[in-house]
Amino acid sequence: MRIVLLGPPGAGKGTQAKMLAGKLALPHISTGDILRHNVANGTELGLKAKEIMNGGGLVPDDLVARMLINRLDQPDVKNGFILDGYPRNISQAKTLDKILKERDSALNFVVYLEATQKVIVQRLSGRLVCSSCNVNFHIVNMPPKVKMICDNCGGALYQRSDDKEETILKRLKVYENEVSELIKYYQDSGKLYRLCADGDSEVLLNEIIALAKQHDDTLKV
Ligand code: AMP
Repeated sequence: MRIVLLGPPGAGKGTQAKMLAGKLALPHISTGDILRHNVANGTELGLKAKEIMNGGGLVPDDLVARMLINRLDQPDVKNGFILDGYPRNISQAKTLDKILKERDSALNFVVYLEATQKVIVQRLSGRLVCSSCNVNFHIVNMPPKVKMICDNCGGALYQRSDDKEETILKRLKVYENEVSELIKYYQDSGKLYRLCADGDSEVLLNEIIALAKQHDDTLKV
């Protein structure tokens, strides 16, 4: 099962992808997480990506594509994946199709998570992320039991450097510039499903699982 989650920053792609990956026993692949890992470790890719990410822009397509191919060729991806944060534009969508085709596979479906700007800004400006297991919390909506400590693994929580209000607005603009073409691309291929992401995350998860079952009726979840 190969699923892509699309949507603006703050729509909940990461949260849904993590929960879905757990339910379907598939790896969650987040290009943002892989890039942040590279930045934290000061790799060559991380050094190139750091300033771009802090400014809310997109890392060049060729760098992200190379990084993605690396990840898709790992053995744990053989039964599929939940992809979050890629593609970000039409060129990346075509690259993804090509990468999969070269490996005799293809996407099963694409979920577009739609969220309103008010909800997005509120979610992102209060988001806290675990530096160890990457689970998300929220200062108001989902505070950790102990201040700035992850309930899940005890790791330290941090606020992403691109979750400042002015960078959030820049990221939304970058996203809006690219998204309509991307949506059309997947709509034309008959793979796109639009779901409302403003509400409860468990309800949304069940909607995505129902879609997965439509695509694989042997799926036991
Ligand atoms: P995310 O965690 O998906 O919100 O991504 C955080 C940042 O990483 C983005 O604002 C971009 O700077 C960079 N990034 C993540 N995925 C991509 C991608 N597919 N193409 C280019 N840049 C990306």
